[in-house]
Amino acid sequence: MSDLQNIFDRQKSAFNGAPNIGWATRKANLKKLGNAIKTHETEFQRVISEDFGNRSFVETTLAEVMVIQGGISHALKHTPKWMRTRRAPTAMQFKPGSNKIVPQPLGVVGIISPWNYPLQLAIMPLIAALGAGNRVMIKPSEYTPKLSQLLKDVLAGIFSEDEVYVAVGGVDVAQEFSSLPFDHLLFTGSTNVGRIVAEAAAKNLTPVTLELGGKSPTIIDESADMNTSVARIANGKLLNAGQTCVAPDYVLMPGAKINAFSEAMIQQAEKFYPKVAGNPDYTSIIADNHYARLQGLLEDAENKGAKIRTAGDDDKQQLAKERRVPLTIVTDTTPDMKIMQEEIFGPLLPVVASDSLDDALDYVQKRERPLALYWFGKNKKKENRVLNESISGGVSVNDVAWHVIQEDIPFGGVGPSGMGAYHGEAGFNTFSHLKGVFTQSRFSQGKMLHPPYGPKTEKMLKMMKKIM
Ligand code: NAD
Repeated sequence: MSDLQNIFDRQKSAFNGAPNIGWATRKANLKKLGNAIKTHETEFQRVISEDFGNRSFVETTLAEVMVIQGGISHALKHTPKWMRTRRAPTAMQFKPGSNKIVPQPLGVVGIISPWNYPLQLAIMPLIAALGAGNRVMIKPSEYTPKLSQLLKDVLAGIFSEDEVYVAVGGVDVAQEFSSLPFDHLLFTGSTNVGRIVAEAAAKNLTPVTLELGGKSPTIIDESADMNTSVARIANGKLLNAGQTCVAPDYVLMPGAKINAFSEAMIQQAEKFYPKVAGNPDYTSIIADNHYARLQGLLEDAENKGAKIRTAGDDDKQQLAKERRVPLTIVTDTTPDMKIMQEEIFGPLLPVVASDSLDDALDYVQKRERPLALYWFGKNKKKENRVLNESISGGVSVNDVAWHVIQEDIPFGGVGPSGMGAYHGEAGFNTFSHLKGVFTQSRFSQGKMLHPPYGPKTEKMLKMMKKIM
């Protein structure tokens, strides 16, 4: 028997021995998780930076550690309420019987996480799974080996293997991991691998939550305040050097304003990061293959006639050595360019002319449903049209990415950008079985429907039809 199967079996039998741990244990689990993340923050900053080549320490605190602390505080405050048996109405014909919904832990759940926010995307699902009372196995990405090992060590310091286990290793480990008969599997990563994981899970009829990627559009309306929009888009795009699942992938805006917008974006990026090479606040591209992929997207676009503007005047060789890519605005694009087809996942930003809202909505609707959509503008009517007529995992209005860290709304994709959701109550529900329970009353007249059928049954059916 393999090690993973062995851990899985041990978690399963530990779960069966205590299938519904109470709030006191769940609370203690969440608290010690929060404390461990706090205690090891500096080490997390250091190893993530080493894995990336350079990852801004501030970004690790802001986009990983603080998001986790927010998730834990929210779970500590609200889980007791989510755990409670929920009242449900009962239709007249079934009264005085009554309905209720009983949330139950699922059992042993699996979490597969990517490299781009390697701490946050392993721990946020863990918070939801622990809050819901499950045992958890985690497979972090092989692209961040130091973080994965530290995560394993830190979690092993506070949980026994039959509570939480971290499986480190490459794609072979990931494949074996996804074939385990989990009670639920949450995968965060690319759409292509998501398909493979869903297929492996289907063999066990393991339900999946898929948190995937895609091309998230940003629509800038003519009513938008340009200065504010530029600052917010540049900030969201350059966080983690664009290696963010919900980073704005491309911009749709009035053609006449594209030039001014592109110049303003470049100036804004230079203000944020006067130097890119050597700047500890500017994150490197994770690996050589991803760096080459981004250069390939630019080359392909340029060869097909796109205009490229790059922020700053850093030495190109130095940038390549540090695997850093400054903000690069790409205009005059055509649909046959790879940059307009593939998820970019880096600091390259195509800007496409779209002179009416109909045009922009049509562009979005004809493409795969994105993980996020951003709309900048002051016109409420148009804003409502965008919200009603476009389908995306989530939306931020007049900013980018902020909807993701709201614990009070679900986070997830739709169609090719994912299925299911988590964060806050949505996460608790994802990792719980919401069991419907009907309790019959001793005054029930149900026996009137028992066979043999006859006039009594007819009378009962007539009465029921009247009140239904
Ligand atoms: P990836 O799909 O390459 O890898 C993700 C995880 O899958 C890793 O842990 C890896 O070990 C595992 N894996 C790889 N091959 C596998 C296989 N054959 N079977 C089972 N598991 C396998 O993704 P990535 O490059 O790490 O991350 C980038 C992608 O993730 C982007 O597309 C991005 O948009 C997406 N993403 C989505 C979210 C979200 O919340 N929706 C968040 C971050 C990243």
